[in-house]
Amino acid sequence: MTPAERIADALRERRHVLLLNHVSPDGDCLGSTLALARALWTRGQQATVGSTDGVPGTYRFLPGSDRIVSEIADGAAFDAVVFMECSTPERAGALAARAAGVPLWVNIDHHVSNAGFGDLILYEGTAAAVGELVYPIVRGLVPSVDAGTATCLMTALLTDTGSFHYANVTPRTLTIAAELVAAGASPAEVYVQVYENQPVAALRLLGMALSRLSVSDDGRVAWTAVTQGMLREAGAAMDDSEGIVGALRAMGGVEVAIVFKEEPDGVRVSLRGRGGIRTHVIAEAFGGGGHAAAAGFTAHGTLDEVVRQTLEAVRREMGAA
Ligand code: AMP
Ligand code: MN
Repeated sequence: MTPAERIADALRERRHVLLLNHVSPDGDCLGSTLALARALWTRGQQATVGSTDGVPGTYRFLPGSDRIVSEIADGAAFDAVVFMECSTPERAGALAARAAGVPLWVNIDHHVSNAGFGDLILYEGTAAAVGELVYPIVRGLVPSVDAGTATCLMTALLTDTGSFHYANVTPRTLTIAAELVAAGASPAEVYVQVYENQPVAALRLLGMALSRLSVSDDGRVAWTAVTQGMLREAGAAMDDSEGIVGALRAMGGVEVAIVFKEEPDGVRVSLRGRGGIRTHVIAEAFGGGGHAAAAGFTAHGTLDEVVRQTLEAVRREMGAA
């Protein structure tokens, strides 16, 4: 039996499954937890999708996302919990506490930094999206994938592959995408919902961030910051800054792109890399994680300090690469 079959088998017998997203959830994580929940709902089973940080506005189009909760009453009884893309249980935020005492822990991930916890583990570091790993579980639970579930999984694949143009795309990614389109998902519609539905404030913020762009003397590192002052000036929220780090990659010769996001409780750092750079190694040095091409962490310190320390760590990794 494959790990996906073992997980489908185990979930089939459960009365109430808790599915947990990581904090600051993205399209892959939300699409994957929802797809799995929808399969369980179709079967008449109970499933609760928890997201400590709720659902960002961008992803409220996902069918079923209105049922995602950010709080769960004490005493709710679950007989399985699925951690989606959580390198450690703590990555699920405050809702991780709801997993205590649950008899079956399932860990599904494609991040290199996964700690390998749980009773059933489905881990593939080379999967382009965790949605790729969830798809066979869904197929094992329901006879056919409905259009809503296909849309959730398409969102997972499309957002974690840069709309199918990153180096992580494999024949499997495109085969699953083709099956999802046949099942009723529209990549065009998902793209518009995720990337072409931004408030004007997000574009103003992008403009501000790009006008403050710094580039290292050798052109290999590009970075910028989003401060609380910039959010106020643009009338934007921090969620509106998601696309900025991707925009920095457009510059020829850049190997590491970094966005420093000044949050009330610290500085959230988004890293993107290409070539031989392993951005997760940089992030792990600060207690974060991710993939070679995309990683992140939160640091406690002033913006200037975090920028300096991060650039030093980037140089160390560039020396090692
Ligand atoms: P982001 O820049 O927030 O889009 O994150 C890029 C990648 O790094 C995603 O795969 C995240 O799941 C991962 N990541 C970001 N922050 C952390 C963290 N604090 N711990 C572990 N992984 C992280
Ligand atoms: Mn992912």
